[in-house]
Amino acid sequence: MFYLLILLLQMKLIRKISDLNKAIKFNYDLGFVPTMGGLHIGHESLIKKSKKKCEKTIVSIFVNPKQFNSKNDYKRYPRNLNTDLKILRKLKVDFVYLPTINQIYKNKEPLKFKLKKTQKILCAKYRKGHFEGVLDIMNRLIKRILPKFVFMGEKDFQQLFLIKKFLENIYNTKVIMCKTVRNNNKVALSTRNFLLNRSDVITAGYVASKLIDLKIKIKQNRVKSKLHIKNTKIYLIKKFNIKIEYLEVRNIINLNSNITNKKFKIFIAYYIDKIRLIDNF
Ligand code: AMP
Repeated sequence: MFYLLILLLQMKLIRKISDLNKAIKFNYDLGFVPTMGGLHIGHESLIKKSKKKCEKTIVSIFVNPKQFNSKNDYKRYPRNLNTDLKILRKLKVDFVYLPTINQIYKNKEPLKFKLKKTQKILCAKYRKGHFEGVLDIMNRLIKRILPKFVFMGEKDFQQLFLIKKFLENIYNTKVIMCKTVRNNNKVALSTRNFLLNRSDVITAGYVASKLIDLKIKIKQNRVKSKLHIKNTKIYLIKKFNIKIEYLEVRNIINLNSNITNKKFKIFIAYYIDKIRLIDNF
């Protein structure tokens, strides 16, 4: 009897869709945290939020090849399933979904989601096909899991924005935005940080601090022109020897560059060595 109880309370690892259908019942509030593994405290914060709000929580770990636009980037993306499972057990997650590529892409449906020209900004401009891949995988996962809530990080703001726009209306699912968790030097936690050395992390901290300062200046109306943003970009490139893909200020309602309503964010994508990092402030 005691062992049966332990078994029932244990985190369930689900690998096949048939097991997913058996494990999940649809009579409780289910929270879903989609991840690509390489879990860190940022992911943990999403899971804790889901556990607090929902009766059951499911976490998926799937490194989705379709959202990488470089094979090399996909290959070297950090993977550490054993450590991830330890973290998930410690957090008392109810279900962990670990699908294989074949299971996910068995149905060879063409990509349904196409970004409009006006949506091809920020990461969508520089990572062709990335968000189409993200929307496709999220559609496949949500269709199978039918969660009441999906918990996603503000760190990937454009991703969250597009998922809300494209998927919230198709399914009876609400996307909950969760704050970005940072280290002591203000660097956003990210699985890709595992690829950085100590001095790279320090550089990322300086970049973050500079952009936090810039945000304060914009709020105080001390930034009079776009030239200021351009000069900040040049300063960061020269000072830290980084390659900046974009550094832009956009409003958070529709992501256009009109920021008169004060609800704005500074978005950056940059490379330290060959590691691409994104953040927003
Ligand atoms: P990933 O495993 O990188 O695909 O991320 C899975 C989820 O965790 C996404 O919703 C991310 O936005 C979120 N996430 C990643 N890093 C952080 C962070 N530092 N703070 C909060 N959420 C994060």
